[in-house]
Amino acid sequence: MNLENLDNLLKEEKPFRRQQVMRAIFRELITNWDEATNLSLQLREKIKDTCSLDINSRIFESKDKNTIKALITLQDGKQIETVLMLHTGNRSTVCVSSQVGCPIGCLFCATGKMGFFRDLTVYEILEQVLFFARYLKSKGDKQITNIVFMGMGEPFLNYDNVLSAVRIINNGHCFNIGSRKISISTSGIIEGIEKMANEDMQVNLSISLHAPNNALREAIMPINSKYSIEKLIGAVDAYIDKTSRKVMYEYVMLKGVNDTLECAEELVRLFRKKSLCMINLIIYNPTGDFEPSDDETVKGFKNFLETHGLFVTQRYEFGQAINAACGQLASSRIKK
Ligand code: SAH
Ligand code: SF4
Repeated sequence: MNLENLDNLLKEEKPFRRQQVMRAIFRELITNWDEATNLSLQLREKIKDTCSLDINSRIFESKDKNTIKALITLQDGKQIETVLMLHTGNRSTVCVSSQVGCPIGCLFCATGKMGFFRDLTVYEILEQVLFFARYLKSKGDKQITNIVFMGMGEPFLNYDNVLSAVRIINNGHCFNIGSRKISISTSGIIEGIEKMANEDMQVNLSISLHAPNNALREAIMPINSKYSIEKLIGAVDAYIDKTSRKVMYEYVMLKGVNDTLECAEELVRLFRKKSLCMINLIIYNPTGDFEPSDDETVKGFKNFLETHGLFVTQRYEFGQAINAACGQLASSRIKK
């Protein structure tokens, strides 16, 4: 797909044209400009020349067919991953990437290991959602209900494009997905958290914490040397004061690294009495250097936190999202 010239073309048109075009692409899900019959023939011909609607992708289905990954090849040949998770009922979540690679370099993450190539444009972010909107439509008029920014990349290092994409995902003429159904996960870019506090949108915020003290966090997430745990939690507390919204702290359980009783105790000290903070324990999907904690350890860890008054979830779907989207597919292809 290539919509990078679209805004340029629409600049010369009356403002309502933009809405018509966006609606045709992201709501009517046209795959060919000839289907956009409410546009003038002249405009269609102009758009056709430079704005391709074809999505170059390969699809990988899980055995139970409930997790579908797509590897999308962008115009410059770079590849990104996006994942669709089908839940019970009519719920379905798309996990989108915000960058090609990631500059944060977390040691446990496949995307972190592949390094950073570039930010995605607004339309490249939307292309991922569009791919699965079309896919679901082809399977019988199902729709995407939730979006998580948990694919490749750090969304807050591409803040403006991510937020512009979120607005289009949210727009009633486009995907029409409610802001409460959209989540952004960050490794803790404080400037982004501060900006989010002032947005007029109720998007959910997730923070990748993964360790309860600075020494350990710095060892697995180098970004901690720039934004310490104290600064990070301070920024999130200010966000909560401003928005009164819940925040999810993500904690990926790494065997023998951050799953000890001492770690649980430290977490309790950090989050006791913070009623709008939730801890989500993620099952680690091994990508090389670390191992996932044992089931028993995860259970004990969760139990300890809960007994001490923390709000803990262990949503399988997040682990599943991440298993599918942490860059393993794209990075294995780069290695090849
Ligand atoms: N860059 C953002 C969003 C993408 S990663 C962030 O880090 O928050 C989404 C989540 O997946 C993060 O919590 C990340 O730490 C976690 N993650 C990365 N690799 C993983 C793996 N192999 N198994 C489980 N979770 C992983
Ligand atoms: Fe980047 Fe998130 Fe992976 Fe860390 S976990 S390297 S921030 S994508």
